[in-house]
Amino acid sequence: MQNSVKYCLLLFLLISCAQIQTEAQTVYITKTGRKYHKETCRYLNHSKYPLTLSKAKERGYEACKVCKPATKTTGAKVDSDSTKIIVSPTPPKVVKAVRCSAKTRSTGSRCKRMTKNANGKCWQHQ
Ligand SMILES: [Zn+2]
Ligand SMILES: [Zn+2]
Repeated sequence: MQNSVKYCLLLFLLISCAQIQTEAQTVYITKTGRKYHKETCRYLNHSKYPLTLSKAKERGYEACKVCKPATKTTGAKVDSDSTKIIVSPTPPKVVKAVRCSAKTRSTGSRCKRMTKNANGKCWQHQ
């Protein structure tokens, strides 16, 4: 019982940390414009509405060419990286070297070369 409570708390902390990261990038939009701006941009003299960069992008706002606000959401990048670690792709195949199964033409004895080829034959006996 205690363990599951701890787990919930940890999960909650993780989620709130992730939210803080994505919420950190605030940009500003105007009442009528279709661009988002840095807080200091002169276009914000008439109207100024804060929102997160990811939301601004979601709604189709473009980066202002005058104040050049950030165009990349750093929070999203962190998220995709951590997902990769959790999903973890299949481990790389370990190919064992085996002795070539072919016989040498000159002596008729078995080839002494080692090979990692799928057909069990060295480069010379392919
Ligand atoms: Zn601007
Ligand atoms: Zn061989």
